[in-house]
Amino acid sequence: MPVYQKNGIGDSRNHKKEGFFQMLELKHIKKYYYVGDSVTKALDDVSVAFRSQEFVAILGPSGSGKTTMLNGIGGLDIYDSGDLAIEGKSTKDFTAADWDAYRNNSVGFIFQSYNIISHLSILDNVEMGMTLSGVSSQEKKNKALQALDRVGLTEHINKRPNQLSGGQLQRVAIARAIANDPEILLCDEPTGALDTETSEQIMQLIKELAAERLVIMVTHNPELAKEYADRIIEFADGKIQNDSNPYDGHTDADQFKLKKTRMTFWTALKLSFNNIRTKKGRTALTAFASSIGIIGIAIVLALSNGFQKQINKTQANTLAQFPVTISQTATSTNGTNANDKVKPTKSNQVMAKVSEQDKATHTNKLTKDYLNYVKKLDPQLSKNVTYTYSTGMNLLRKVNGKVKSVSFSNTDNSSSSNSASAMQSAMAASTGVGGSVYPSANDGGISFLKKHYKLVSGGYPKGANEVILIVDRDNSTNINALKNLGYSVKANQKFDYNQIVGTTIKVVNNNDYYQSLPTGNYVPNKATTGLYNNHNNTKLQIAGIVKVKSKSSENVLASGIAYSDQLTQNIISKNQDSRIVKAQQKASANVMTGQSVDQTTKKSLVSYLGGSTTPASILIYPNTFKNKDKVLRYLDKYNHGKRKADQVIYTDMAGTVSSLTGGLMSAITYVLIAFAGISLVTSMIMIAIITYTSVLERTKEIGILKALGARKKDITRVFDAETFILGIASGALGVVIAWLLTFPVNIVLKNITDLSNVAHLNPIHGVILIIISTILTVLGGHIPARMAAKKDAATALRSE
Ligand code: ADP
Ligand code: MG
Repeated sequence: MPVYQKNGIGDSRNHKKEGFFQMLELKHIKKYYYVGDSVTKALDDVSVAFRSQEFVAILGPSGSGKTTMLNGIGGLDIYDSGDLAIEGKSTKDFTAADWDAYRNNSVGFIFQSYNIISHLSILDNVEMGMTLSGVSSQEKKNKALQALDRVGLTEHINKRPNQLSGGQLQRVAIARAIANDPEILLCDEPTGALDTETSEQIMQLIKELAAERLVIMVTHNPELAKEYADRIIEFADGKIQNDSNPYDGHTDADQFKLKKTRMTFWTALKLSFNNIRTKKGRTALTAFASSIGIIGIAIVLALSNGFQKQINKTQANTLAQFPVTISQTATSTNGTNANDKVKPTKSNQVMAKVSEQDKATHTNKLTKDYLNYVKKLDPQLSKNVTYTYSTGMNLLRKVNGKVKSVSFSNTDNSSSSNSASAMQSAMAASTGVGGSVYPSANDGGISFLKKHYKLVSGGYPKGANEVILIVDRDNSTNINALKNLGYSVKANQKFDYNQIVGTTIKVVNNNDYYQSLPTGNYVPNKATTGLYNNHNNTKLQIAGIVKVKSKSSENVLASGIAYSDQLTQNIISKNQDSRIVKAQQKASANVMTGQSVDQTTKKSLVSYLGGSTTPASILIYPNTFKNKDKVLRYLDKYNHGKRKADQVIYTDMAGTVSSLTGGLMSAITYVLIAFAGISLVTSMIMIAIITYTSVLERTKEIGILKALGARKKDITRVFDAETFILGIASGALGVVIAWLLTFPVNIVLKNITDLSNVAHLNPIHGVILIIISTILTVLGGHIPARMAAKKDAATALRSE
């Protein structure tokens, strides 16, 4: 009788006993397979005990249940009924984790088909069992090298599995099985695929290993069994037919201790990374396939980015040209009613009828209330709210030592000289008396100017007494603006900045500017140095020159002189009670020409002379079509519940344009979003399919890992880690490809539409897409990974 001695590799076991003892006992084990209506009794009430040290051969015809028994002993396949005792410990109440630990620490498997993981190196294969149980890498390597030495493979350890012969592969499998020094070695037809000579060598090796442990070997070769084994059990129809050396020793005490296995996510990541590395080409293709969705989304994002910019630009441009206008007289579009019943008159009568146009004409009362209401408009909605006053300014400038009467207007006034008629022609200009007005807001208008203009010379205006010259993007400005300022200019003539910046202009009060004649009429005084130097005058200065920043800022202010609305208000407050204003308010004729005037003209004369604080019109420049709608809604709200006469009607010139382009733009946006959505779904399905295929393909590997003691969690982790790597790779690949694609896309778009740089991938979007890709890939792969983990180990190993 052989005697148990401890002379194996490693010292992980510590048997205090001398001689052998009962290692395993199968008690009435049954395992039935149900396929359709038929039942296969693979194990039919098997009872047998094994010594802690012996070489048992199990002989029997194919299909007799040998593999089923071996898998049952090894915990790969759980029996239906009966009990398996390990060193006296019943396994009836074993949890999945207990079985995992048992396989990992106590059992080594050797299969007919070697079951070496082909994408791992030989050393990694041998180390795998220890990797799963978290053995430190140095200890792992030492043990693996010892095991490989034991099976005679020391000189081949640097080869890859596909560079080894069958016999060598089986030696690797043996090394893997004994590396952790298990008490039990289970061999399922280990020589079944080998030639006679190699078979003899392998049998010799197994025989040596059996001196230290229990070896149970399934074979259908009786000669080999007889030559090497200590004990032969003959198997047929799921039952033991004959046992050459039965054992009836019993162990009552429970001697068995389990060491739980664990694998870190880091290990899983390394395993997956190795797997991916060995299949570079295929992984690249896989990553590319699943990146297509990301490419789609990235391109759509890049394009809609550009389109959105373009849309905003177009809208802003349109709106800059067509502001929402509130004038003192407006045409109400809802005043006409198409449903008015036509009542026929008698044939011999004429009916006096108000024309549709007159009916629609509405006088807006721009009351303080209304002005305050407009002032409270959300500043985010509009680029500018301009108040135009038909208030004239009495301006003087010294040109080459001679005092001249000048104006901020940019309309051509050259035909008339400084006189009442000039004033009247200025009044005729609907937008007032020249120059653009910007809102002074809280900071005198500086932030407003900075938003749309960049300073090219001088400084931004500090206060109402500093004005500014607006130039276009080509540094040009309206010739009339310069002429009216007193410059003698020819078309296309150029001026140095310093000829303009710093220029002083004086504003003269009405009382000093106009003199009353004995007739009661008023005329302007001569533009003299004396009048220029009058200490009542307000000194204005051109503080600087600003230039339109972008196309969307064009037309926000007209080219020429611009000043803050505060200046107008200052002038009005000075002139409001002036003699000429008082006179004009009383007179029924023009106080300068003596011509009799109607009520309306009189009102505008008073206004021109600075006698009215009511603006002539309000121009609102919304920044987008959407915001324009909000502005209009805000203005409409004012009219709610008001009498028709008290309502204020605006003109929305951009209305027709906006409803057209706005609809088209939102259609395009929706189409783009739909495409992005489809891409996303496609991407997810693709990823799920790819992971699922990968799971199917690696079924065998899952079986091997389970045989080595991998937990369900570990298997899930290996696949999660793989999809994690794949997700990052495909996300990054997708973003890079999409980014590269923006270049040709932009060239094509430039050729077709003349718009440059439409597609622009925001780097933040890129990062977000990589994260999304990773999350989606891991999610999409997690379900197949869970399925893989649930796979029955025995079934997985049977798959080919
Ligand atoms: P052996 O190893 O002796 O050739 P097995 O243990 O592999 O035999 O199989 C014993 C019997 O159990 C066979 O009839 C086989 O078809 C059946 N069998 C094994 N595994 C399954 C299974 N997963 N489902 C159904 N039948 C099975
Ligand atoms: Mg078999």
